[in-house]
Amino acid sequence: MPKYKQVPELLKIMRNPEQIRNIGIIAHIDHGKTTMTDSLLASSGLLKADLAGEARALDYMEEEQKRGITIKAANISLLHEVDGVPYVINLIDTPGHVDFSGKVTRALRAIDFAIVVVDAVEEIMAQTETVTKQALQERVRPVLYINKVDRLITELKLTPQEVQEKFMRIIRDFNELIELYAEPEFVDKWKVKVQDGTVIFGSAKHRWGFTFQILQEKGLTFGDITKAYEQNNIKALEETIPLYKAVLDCVVRKAPNPIEAQKYRIPRLWHGDLDSEVGKALLNCDANGPPVMVVTKVIVDPHAGIVATGRIFSGVFRTGQRIKIIRSNVKTNIQQVGIYMGPHRVPVDELYAGNIVALLGVSEARAGDTITLPDIDIPPFEQIKYISEPVVTVAVEPKRTQDLQKLINQMKIMEIEDPNLKVTINTE
Ligand code: GDP
Repeated sequence: MPKYKQVPELLKIMRNPEQIRNIGIIAHIDHGKTTMTDSLLASSGLLKADLAGEARALDYMEEEQKRGITIKAANISLLHEVDGVPYVINLIDTPGHVDFSGKVTRALRAIDFAIVVVDAVEEIMAQTETVTKQALQERVRPVLYINKVDRLITELKLTPQEVQEKFMRIIRDFNELIELYAEPEFVDKWKVKVQDGTVIFGSAKHRWGFTFQILQEKGLTFGDITKAYEQNNIKALEETIPLYKAVLDCVVRKAPNPIEAQKYRIPRLWHGDLDSEVGKALLNCDANGPPVMVVTKVIVDPHAGIVATGRIFSGVFRTGQRIKIIRSNVKTNIQQVGIYMGPHRVPVDELYAGNIVALLGVSEARAGDTITLPDIDIPPFEQIKYISEPVVTVAVEPKRTQDLQKLINQMKIMEIEDPNLKVTINTE
């Protein structure tokens, strides 16, 4: 059942980095990233943005899902309890349209853990390899989610033996990518194993999923799942082995918290002096250190204006605080600090290291920027690099000249939101 928390309770959790996980979902196109994100959003511990009434909040969510909120949201924060302890799980959307253009960015820096979705029918494809490699290069631990298992049963009609062989092949190929692209110290630690709970199997479409441990706990076998399909009892699977639980349990148990992760990730992502005050604060995810954050996505909100979302690596960001964007040396004031509840932003006074924050009023910030205090002089986090420059050029003009300004405004918004897009306006 969805669990709700109010802002003060949530901020209490967010004060303790051990209860935070920052993750992403990456995949080859069409393997089920969007469907899976939707199923997490729909069934897991939604955080209630609208405190006026639960029912309304849920209706609102459904409405937004229909409109494809998962593509638009810069971040989705979920609440999940394991052994009675609540965790905030931030599902961060990294910039760059990996799905649409194959132009994979190195913008995985705000996450410490990635769920790689692989279609059980198609197995590991070219983009699975690219995104897994990118994650490993950023020292993000990838784990495997084998999706569309329903199709093995209903379409391919594989025998349990054949299903098992297919699973084993996907896992072997995935571990080969880890061997190939992970740095030596991580290879053995990060290879996925069914027995460890680092491989999830399921159907995002039908919203069920399991790890080895879950099947054992429930006393189920793969045969029981096949049987549920034969008896057209798919809904029962969603109730007994919900996908969100398999995924979020795996995240809580296997993903490093920000304190653990920053120790080995900062030396890779930030090339400043690790013995300096800032360096030590970054390595330790220290909320008492100087404030440093990295922007992962910028959205133009029709009401709030430019919203810059990113990860706080050290210190505290506060409403009203004066800050500096390092790359452009722009100094400005934060109008409002916000946290995410589900996909919604909620204003707060301040937010601490390890968390995902939304800033209003920092309109010059772009994806990849490092933000700190005006008087702190440090190198920015490594710039996000794109594998290729834009290759397609399109000229557009409005059908009716009176729409020209509308078109220009819209093009400007698109350019702010999409770091891959370059817009030039020919006023003649
Ligand atoms: P994305 O490109 O990775 O975001 O993929 P989508 O989530 O858009 O899914 C691509 C297609 O696969 C859609 O038609 C989905 O309905 C379908 N799909 C996703 N997950 C499953 C699944 O578990 N089983 C089946 N049968 N279809 C799925």
